[in-house]
Order: sequence, then C-alpha cells, then structure tokens
Amino acid sequence: MGSKRASDTRLACRRCDQCGIRTGVKSDDDDVCVLQCSLCGKEYPFYKSQREDRQLRAMEEKSDMPSACNTYDTIIVGGGPGGLSAGIYALRAAMKTILIEKGAPGGQMAINKGIENYPGFIDINGFELSERFLKHAKSYGLEILQEEAIAIEPGIEFHSVRLANGKTLKAYSIILSPGGISRTLGVPGEIENLGRGVSYCATCDGFFFTGKPVAVVGGGDTALEEALYLSKIASEVHLIHRRKEFRAGRIVQQRINMEPKIKVISNAVVTNIISDGNGVSSIVVKNGEGAESELHVEGIFIFVGFAPNRKLVPAGAKMSEGGFVLTDERCESSIPGIFVIGDLRQKYANQIVVAASDGCISALAAARCVEMRKAGFTNCKLAA
Ligand code: NAP
Repeated sequence: MGSKRASDTRLACRRCDQCGIRTGVKSDDDDVCVLQCSLCGKEYPFYKSQREDRQLRAMEEKSDMPSACNTYDTIIVGGGPGGLSAGIYALRAAMKTILIEKGAPGGQMAINKGIENYPGFIDINGFELSERFLKHAKSYGLEILQEEAIAIEPGIEFHSVRLANGKTLKAYSIILSPGGISRTLGVPGEIENLGRGVSYCATCDGFFFTGKPVAVVGGGDTALEEALYLSKIASEVHLIHRRKEFRAGRIVQQRINMEPKIKVISNAVVTNIISDGNGVSSIVVKNGEGAESELHVEGIFIFVGFAPNRKLVPAGAKMSEGGFVLTDERCESSIPGIFVIGDLRQKYANQIVVAASDGCISALAAARCVEMRKAGFTNCKLAA
C-alpha cells in the first residue's frame, strides 16, 4: 500500500519541480516519505499531508535554510562572455551550477555590431557571438535563471545570493560577473550615433576609421592610450580634454607629444555630435572662453571613465583606488569562495577574450574551492 502511494506522481517534490530536478522516493511511511534528488543526491522529507507540507516548506523558505534545490556548488551572476565561459568550465568540472542573468545573455558583447578581435572569428556580430557562447553553455546543460540578483551575502559554509523575487540561493562559491558600462558625455547626437561614428572601444571599432579623421575625448590613461592606438589607423586624431593637465601617467603623455598625428585640444569640451545621415560628420567643440567651433571628424571615441557594476560587491571585498575589485591570479576576491571576473575585476585590459579567460580561470579555481569547502575548510585560498 505504502509503495503504491510512494510512486504516485503527485508526491513529486514541489521545489524540485520548480528547479527541474527529478526526485526518487527513497523510503515511505504513513506521514512522511524521504525523497532523494537525482541530481545532487541530497535527501529530504516530503510531508504527505498537503497542509503540513505547505506549512513546513513555508517555514524553511522563510528561514533561508539550505535545501537540495536552492543550494549549488557555484552560482554565476551575470551572463556576459565571462559568466557564460565560467558556466562551460563549471559544468565540465561537474559542478552543480546556476547562472543568474536579468537581461539577455551576452551583456555588452551582444550590442557590439562587429567584433574583429575574438580569436577564431575574423568578423562576427556581437549578438551572434553571444548566441554561440549561450548555445555552447547550454550544450552542457547550464541552468539559467532570468532574474535579478540584488545582494550577495558571504557565509561560513555557504554564500547567499538574494534575488529580486524574494528567494535566496546558496552556494559554496560565487562567480560574480556583472560587467559595467562606459560613462557617456551626455551631449546631443551621442546616443543617436552609437555604432555610426560614436564608439567607446578603439580596439573594437578603430579599424572602421582607417585613413579617416577621428576625435578622442578624455584625459585619463585610457583616452591617451587609445589615442595612440588610433594614430596608427586614422588619418589624424584630435585629443580633446576638458582641463589643461592630463590625468594620465607621464610616460603616455610623452608618447602623445611625440606622435605627429595626434593634435591635443585642451581646456575644451564637446557640446554636439553632428551626423550627415550616414554617420558622424563633425563635432562642435567649445573652448575655455566659451567660443564654439565645428571640427570635421568621422568618428568620436569617448573615454571619460568606465563604471563597473559594483552594487553586488559584498562589503569587505578589497577594491582598487579606481573602484575595481582586486583579485588574486585565480580571480578570487579577498573573500574566500567569491570570485570576480570580467570588467569588474582590476586588470590591464577589458576585452571579450580576457573576460572569457577569467571565466575559465575562476571556474577551475572555484571547483577546487568547492572541494575544500565541502571538506570543511572555510578558506579555500589554502588550495592555491
Ligand atoms: P579616468 O582615469 O577616470 O579618466 C577619465 C577622464 O575623463 C579624465 O581625464 C576626466 O577628466 C575625463 N572626464 C570625465 N568626465 C568627463 C566629461 N563629462 N567630459 C569630459 N571629460 C570627462 O578613466 P580611465 O582613463 O578609463 O582610467 C580608469 C583607471 O584605469 C585609472 O585608474 C587608470 O589609471 C587605469 N588605467 C590604467 C592603464 C594602464 O596602466 N596602462 C590603462 C588604462 C586605464 P578630468 O581629468 O578633468 O577629471
């Protein structure tokens, strides 16, 4: 009689139904049967009285107790190239993994019109490359949850990710890959001409301006380095900076002064970006005295800072002066078991290939970390 009830499909665990994990019935008696998650192998009771089951589960959810279906080896937050690469490597390392992404997978990469520097692809649309990353990750069965992560709380045994829907997921390790966005000037014509002459990435788009005049805006290391890069491609580079002194380091300033193709316009701001209908044709520059003049350029590269998405960085994680998370060579932050990858991590270059590399490194390191934490070591940095 008992075994008949146990195999009744209505006994399937609601939590596992929700997260797609099938359960098997391990034992059965009059009040409670023990279900075993076929994926993680964990056992938990199922109360046969509908009312009691509802009440007990509500209590469990309120107390945020770890359970088979809300607990993972690793939770990846962010579905850009770093997060999706981490997903591929995490599943290849047989970790129980979930990726949380509130928008479309691919992140910034998906809105990039032409990517010419991702090895193996001479020219690929960013959306298509994102789809390829996604398909690859899904081929290993990566579980993707379209939801917003609102907080990450480090813990002794498990770290927690709080979701906008009120639920909490737990994991032995977290791979944080939320990306960031380039700061904008906020002038007329900027958004309208994005991808049609306005760019925030010289490495990505510089090639389209071969032999053409361009402007670079900004006075930091990025602006000056990118101006030097563009001087090898464009016919001339107007470097426009709002102050007389550059913020960038001395050596790069010296190189700028030695490059004849770069013309510095200091103490000036861009007030308008003008299009001829096909793309950028000129910009309006206002000098320190307030006089405006039109400058013929076909591209404008804006480097006025980058804003990494820091809101999920847990308190206590060490940061650089510029506001990026400091990690070790395994992409692990100063909080054991919390890995930070992609544009939020302090590093030399923000590129798709670098984010993908971060994803690989962090997942391999997280796999080792999870083993350590399961064995009772809270500090998986010992595994380095
Ligand atoms: P950054 O150092 O913050 O420089 C941003 C530049 O944009 C500043 O010159 C700033 O002017 C200007 N700016 C900001 N808002 C503006 C606006 N609305 N209109 C016009 N100009 C505006 O940013 P970054 O160059 O991207 O560098 C970020 C960090 O990465 C820095 O710590 C940098 O040293 C580091 N980095 C290092 C390297 C390297 O070591 N090779 C390479 C790249 C970046 P003000 O100067 O007047 O504030």
